[in-house]
Amino acid sequence: MAIISTEAIVLRSLDHRETSKFVFLLTKKCGKVLGVLKGIRKDPRKFGSSVDKFSVNDIVFYQYRDSEVHLVSQCDMKEFFPEVRLDAKKILAAEYAAELVNKILPLEEPNPGVYDLLLNYLRALGGEKDLGRLVHMFQIKLLALSGFRPHIDSCVACGAGVKDQARFSMVRGGLVCPKCRVPDAALVPISAGAVASLLYIEKKNWAACQRLSIPPAIKRELKYILNNFLIFHLEKNIRSAKYL
Ligand SMILES: [Zn+2]
Repeated sequence: MAIISTEAIVLRSLDHRETSKFVFLLTKKCGKVLGVLKGIRKDPRKFGSSVDKFSVNDIVFYQYRDSEVHLVSQCDMKEFFPEVRLDAKKILAAEYAAELVNKILPLEEPNPGVYDLLLNYLRALGGEKDLGRLVHMFQIKLLALSGFRPHIDSCVACGAGVKDQARFSMVRGGLVCPKCRVPDAALVPISAGAVASLLYIEKKNWAACQRLSIPPAIKRELKYILNNFLIFHLEKNIRSAKYL
């Protein structure tokens, strides 16, 4: 058993028995962790935090080797994002990101890149006017950091570079050139501008991406492709995990 002190973002919390809570936390040091906060509902002052969704907390927990659930002994609120909580759309955007991270990441695999990404995203949300753009930045970077990156450098079937008339295949998870045929009934055309935006957001750091403006037509394309790609691959992932 190890005692770990780290910063953590609350992804999801569930009531446990009469007095406790289970909390999925994205920790800076250990990746996603499932913790239990005993007695927090009976005595809310026991912890310096009410573990609100997407809040940042300083925590101490006992990491057991033989259990997926770890006892959180200290939890103190560090960042609450009040500007986000005043706006219903921003709350949804923050909850969406926390849910996505919770679904995509396995337990206890450190991923400091995803931690920084979620923190940057939550900090940017409060002052953001273009929520769609920010959500797409988050989706694209999360896919790249969690091993679900779509194949957009070349044709996923033949490997040739694709200049125009590209299509995107959800099934194959990437671009298809005009010459190739792939067994995918749901191929969608994707513009060179949308491909360039995907590549730019993947490669550039968060600050550079925040200066990028995305034209509405490209945003519509990104929205369709990213949302469907995420649904397709997450469902496939969850289904295959069940059979293992
Ligand atoms: Zn091809």
